[in-house]
Amino acid sequence: MRPLFATIHSAALKHNLAVVRRHAPASKVLAVIKANAYGHGLSRAAAALSEADGYALLELDEAVRLREAGYRQRIVLLEGFFGPDELPLLARHRLAAVVHCREQIAALDGLAADARLDVLLKVNTGMNRLGLSPGEFAAARDRLRSNPGVGAIALMTHFANADDARGVAWQMARLQQLPDGDTLPRSLANSAAILRYPETHADWVRPGIMLYGCSPFPEGVGDEAGLKPAMTLESRIIAVQDLRPGDTVGYGGMFRADRALRIGVVACGYADGYPRHAPNGTPVSVAGRTTGTAGRVSMDLLCVDLSELPEAGPGARVVLWGEGMPVERVAQAAGTVGYQLLCALAPRVRIVEA
Ligand SMILES: *Cc1c(COP(=O)(O)O)cnc(C)c1O
Repeated sequence: MRPLFATIHSAALKHNLAVVRRHAPASKVLAVIKANAYGHGLSRAAAALSEADGYALLELDEAVRLREAGYRQRIVLLEGFFGPDELPLLARHRLAAVVHCREQIAALDGLAADARLDVLLKVNTGMNRLGLSPGEFAAARDRLRSNPGVGAIALMTHFANADDARGVAWQMARLQQLPDGDTLPRSLANSAAILRYPETHADWVRPGIMLYGCSPFPEGVGDEAGLKPAMTLESRIIAVQDLRPGDTVGYGGMFRADRALRIGVVACGYADGYPRHAPNGTPVSVAGRTTGTAGRVSMDLLCVDLSELPEAGPGARVVLWGEGMPVERVAQAAGTVGYQLLCALAPRVRIVEA
């Protein structure tokens, strides 16, 4: 069997949920499990996170499956519904919808009077993606209140800079100017805001990345916040090459040996989700020690420099990311974020549950 696999650590998911609770003890937790739970597997993550007060995701069919699997918590559709035809299904399965635009508010008029559909009214406080403008808020809220098919109404916004120096104060100020905005339950904080801005915690927090043990901050690693990686992607060295000075490695000869050195060939490539744009020297853990990639990542294989690891040969354990190699470090070297690497784990990678 190909030696590549990903271990999903359910104890780490539970641990990270407890870290969220420590940071936001007065808030309910909406565990964000979109994108197949950031690559960890939706049903697996939902089970490990069953102590959460709710779940948030995008796909209606997945939300229905969660309900049918017996989860009684709140389930929020983060983009709401995409047409009025979906509303009966939302109501039947008691799924809560984010409502972010005038078209959705109008479509809700078609709800059955006994639907009692819970909604999160999303206000655009500066992200400029989804959400009504602050000026539209009061009328939208009043229209939802007078709609007998609508149940509980909450206020929601999303931060654009909770992970960087611009921060959240400018968006919080816009939120505070909403007429009677503080009379509705509120859901504001993503992982970065949970960790950095207690004033955003409000009624429901919405952690995603931190549940998976990864830091939301561009320079950070989860360990600094006491988080544990929930996914370890590992493989083995399957071949070794001895290079002479001037030899190159892989497609395009992107790595050239400046002296005699040893290269290990690892069974993992971009078709497994490893980033193809990772440059030479992207950190990899081999036999418990950190070395770097050498040459271009190909579809099924990548190479690592073994010059400083004479004891590591074929069969040596390689951790691409997870326990022993923070996914954030790999992402930082490859010019991306841990989010993208975790989400991109390919369906062909065997999953082991731990
Ligand atoms: C993805 C998402 C989150 C979670 O963000 P993290 O940075 O992963 O914590 C929270 N809220 C909304 C609306 C999202 O789309």
